[in-house]
Amino acid sequence: MEDIKKIIKNTIRSLTKQEIPATPSNYAKEFYKQAQELDFRVDELNKFYKLYKDLNEDEKLYISENDITTYFELSFLLLKRVNNKDLTKFIENLDFLLTPSIDYNIEKKISQLKTELLQEPQRLVKNSTINRLRKFTNERITRDKVVVQEKAKDVKKVINLMGKYFDKCLLQSDDTSKEVTMIKTELEGLELSKHSARDLAMLQSKLVDTIHKLENSIDESQAELFKGQKDCVYLQKQINKLEQDLNEVSREKDIDFLTGIANRRAFAAEVDKIENEYEIFKSKYAIVFYDIDHFKSINDNYGHECGDTVLSTFATILKKLTREEDVICRYGGEEFIALIHYTEDDEVLSYLKRVQNIVSTNKFVHKDIKLKVKFCAGVVYRNKYNSYNEALEQADLLLNKAKHEGRDKIIIDTGVYI
Ligand code: GH3
Ligand code: MG
Ligand code: MG
Repeated sequence: MEDIKKIIKNTIRSLTKQEIPATPSNYAKEFYKQAQELDFRVDELNKFYKLYKDLNEDEKLYISENDITTYFELSFLLLKRVNNKDLTKFIENLDFLLTPSIDYNIEKKISQLKTELLQEPQRLVKNSTINRLRKFTNERITRDKVVVQEKAKDVKKVINLMGKYFDKCLLQSDDTSKEVTMIKTELEGLELSKHSARDLAMLQSKLVDTIHKLENSIDESQAELFKGQKDCVYLQKQINKLEQDLNEVSREKDIDFLTGIANRRAFAAEVDKIENEYEIFKSKYAIVFYDIDHFKSINDNYGHECGDTVLSTFATILKKLTREEDVICRYGGEEFIALIHYTEDDEVLSYLKRVQNIVSTNKFVHKDIKLKVKFCAGVVYRNKYNSYNEALEQADLLLNKAKHEGRDKIIIDTGVYI
């Protein structure tokens, strides 16, 4: 009792000296201090140390660093501790946090831990418990990884097959339909891991279904294609034939049926061409207007057929004596025109002489009929006239002149007679 009194006295003195008000908490703190100095065993101090022993390392450190010596001060630290109610709430959710996505094999272990912790929630923060939780978490991550890997493999398998399928579709080989069916069978038989059974299996059956539909449409479109191909070949043949006919018609349209040389229509086009060259390149040419003498009497005496032979023979002679770049045509009944290119005027003269020579020295033959044929020609040099028409008119005039002057002659616009 004396000791207590002494401690009280020392306490009040110390507080006064330090000018600390003697509030209950200040008093208690100083009291315990004074008691310790006198090595007096206060019951409350013993209890405090007993409690201190149960604190964790962090809490002990906190107590020494902050000079916590009273229950009052200790209460603040203890208040920071999570209470059992909250811990229980957390523990109840442990399986949700630890159970792997698919594989539930560690479920038993987790529920065992949960039961233990619910009986004593504070054990949750014990190192041994934290280690167990770590172990479970690692296990959960490993198991989840395996599931993800297997699923990824399954997805790859399905995608690979779909890729093959689309390749085949795009290539459109003859065997497309057969190959698609093969891929479909492969897809149907695809072995998926047990983890993919729920979701990927649905996708798998949807794909099989889609391929089935596509298969039918490929068959149909191939049949259509074959039919289209046949139609195309037929149409192509028709077009070729029409093209041939058209070419023949257009050839016939330009060629005189009897003599095989250009008719008047084709000749007009040739005149345009040559006139063009004449304008641009000043390429000189002569117009020779031929007319067979007394042709009517050939018809009358030997028949129309013989007259036809005379016409075609005369055309053949002209054809033979006319060069590639020159033009000849049957202008009318027994009238022909030749456009003869030249450099020197004499070239035209020698051409005319050649024609006259061949016609006059030979007999035209029709069956057993052999007859002499004579002709007249009016010849002009195009460059002496303002236009083709003017030149042609002059050739016609000279031809008539030749007729009037007794026939069997060629008159050139230079005044030369052949
Ligand atoms: P000229 O000496 O004045 O030229 O007298 P011609 O008899 O030769 O001339 P005309 O114009 O009087 O007679 C031409 C004849 O040519 C009249 C026509 O029946 C004939 N004829 C026209 N085209 C053809 C044909 O394609 N074949 C045959 N055989 N005769 C034709
Ligand atoms: Mg005539
Ligand atoms: Mg005539």
